[in-house]
Amino acid sequence: MAKVYYDMDANLKVLSGKTVAVIGYGSQGHAHAQNLKESGVTVIVALHEGSKSRETARNDGFEVFSPAEAAKRADIIMFLVPDHIQADVYNREVAPNMKEDAVLAFAHGFAVHFGQVTPSKKNDVFMIAPKGPGHIVRRMYEEGKGVPALVAVYQNASGRAMEIALAYGVGIGAGRAGILETTFKEETESDLFGEQAVLCGGLCELIKAGFYTLVEAGYQPEVAYFECLHEVKLIVDLIFEGGLSWMRYSVSDTAKYGDAVSGRRVIDDAARANMRKILSEIQDGTFAKDWILENRAGRPRMKKWVAAERDQLIESVGRDLRSMMPWLAKKEAPEY
Ligand code: NAD
Ligand code: MG
Repeated sequence: MAKVYYDMDANLKVLSGKTVAVIGYGSQGHAHAQNLKESGVTVIVALHEGSKSRETARNDGFEVFSPAEAAKRADIIMFLVPDHIQADVYNREVAPNMKEDAVLAFAHGFAVHFGQVTPSKKNDVFMIAPKGPGHIVRRMYEEGKGVPALVAVYQNASGRAMEIALAYGVGIGAGRAGILETTFKEETESDLFGEQAVLCGGLCELIKAGFYTLVEAGYQPEVAYFECLHEVKLIVDLIFEGGLSWMRYSVSDTAKYGDAVSGRRVIDDAARANMRKILSEIQDGTFAKDWILENRAGRPRMKKWVAAERDQLIESVGRDLRSMMPWLAKKEAPEY
């Protein structure tokens, strides 16, 4: 079982007299910076020239610098820019300017684990990865609560890297909920696997496969949408609240029997073998290499896929049906 740390296991004083530079002021950045500041930590924010977030950070009361300038002043540097940009920011701006013994911090292991950022042996390197989006990290802190986080130490040059990491975690409020120990390898690989096999890739294709099976068999798309997409939330809410057993207890006996006899026919041995293949391509670095090359080339594969997915019947039917649900806030994704 994982080791879990709480507020009482850390000492925020470890951070006193130190300056934390938070690079990036997006989802995670705004939450880390404000929570740390309210925990009594000295925080500066780093953003590139022309970033729209600069004004937001200033309005929230932070001094804003370029990453290079912030690196000169900081004792702890937290990278909260998008993962595929971290290597560039580190190599061009941070590494040439930072204090020799600065502590490098991350909220996801991708850049370090896959060798995109290779810190010198003189630096402590840790991760605090909240298990929730930034606005929840911020809101929970304001309510006196916290979002659980993962902690990992990649390099322990000072001998105090874990102490510093836990103080940081407590500073953003995670110690109120629990901070689970992991490694950069475990966090990175499991995170990628989860989003590919289950959360994003697996779930979306499961929904689509069910929807088009019904539509191709002559059922109305609107009815197929309700059964295969809309109701996913109702089921997931039950699973989230009380696990698989609670959901199964809550649905009808007919639904339960259908679950029992058909679930394993959909996610069968072949699907499980595919999951293991996906995991091995994450572990051996194939996925990371492809994604880095895709970015360098201007994302041609992803752009094509995004455009094709937007044009799907399930999306246009969904738009029409959601307009009949006045309790839903209208969400329309901008171009991406
Ligand atoms: P985000 O896209 O919301 O924000 C990125 C920020 O970086 C923005 O403020 C942007 O202006 C800034 N930025 C972009 N390029 C920059 C540059 N060259 N120099 C300086 N600033 C630059 O990102 P996010 O979702 O907060 O993710 C940050 C990190 O947190 C990632 O490592 C991510 O994996 C991790 N993480 C995110 C979540 C989440 O829920 N969003 C949860 C856990 C961990
Ligand atoms: Mg994830």
